Amino acid sequence: MHPRITREKRIVDKMITIYCRKNRHSKKGVLCADCEELKAYAHKTFVN
Ligand SMILES: [Zn+2]
Repeated sequence: MHPRITREKRIVDKMITIYCRKNRHSKKGVLCADCEELKAYAHKTFVN
């Protein structure tokens, strides 16, 4: 996989983690089911 995509994925992961925590969806360091799904979807768009 291209290094740039890997980095962008990490940024997206971080953004979703911050978003989830900020909205108190779940405990610190753990994504709720919705945000986990969002992350999976975001990764899929990077691959394609
Ligand atoms: Zn969440």
